Amino acid sequence: MSALICPKCGKTSDTVAFIEAFCVECYPVSIKVPDKVEFEQCTRCGRARLKGDWTPYTDKKIGDLVLAKCRGDFESAGYDVERQTAVFTMKHGVKVERLIPLEMKKTICPQCSRISGGYFEAIIQLRGNRAKMEKYALMLISRLEKKTFIAKTEEKDEGLDLYVGNSKAVVALMGNLGVRALITKKLVGRDQGKRLYRTTFMVRL
Ligand SMILES: [Zn+2]
Ligand SMILES: [Zn+2]
Repeated sequence: MSALICPKCGKTSDTVAFIEAFCVECYPVSIKVPDKVEFEQCTRCGRARLKGDWTPYTDKKIGDLVLAKCRGDFESAGYDVERQTAVFTMKHGVKVERLIPLEMKKTICPQCSRISGGYFEAIIQLRGNRAKMEKYALMLISRLEKKTFIAKTEEKDEGLDLYVGNSKAVVALMGNLGVRALITKKLVGRDQGKRLYRTTFMVRL
């Protein structure tokens, strides 16, 4: 069989590999990639906003975000965050690279802006045995931080106060733990016509 000649570059099949009528370099691939991919990242906590949700940043999640915007007849694809390059493996095993720049917008997520604004919805007042109180506070904090934030903790003569971002999270945790708390609610203001309450949960240990 005589050598093939690439119709695009003129190389022949005795010097380079061919796929069908073209050399590997000129073999037409149809891949559509975005010019760039934007996402927001919080400068305080480092979380990224992906599909509307604030979530811990990982290279994998960013890669998935980028590749979800790529179209083409590739078999598999990967995205290298360091090089901002997507690598597509085509049917014939040919690898095709495309540069897809990431554009990270630095911002502050709503949770961090609330923390810095001193916002909180609930106060947990721990009262009673001080040694017990400290252990208990650590347990509460570690569980609450999965759902919300702790704005501050305050040591007082009468006990320990925890200022918590979200009061529903406190209600749910108290329910899970089977804790009986004395609850008082206070109207502290309005935000766009909505009444804002601050709830205090007093727990005796
Ligand atoms: Zn060619
Ligand atoms: Zn944040």
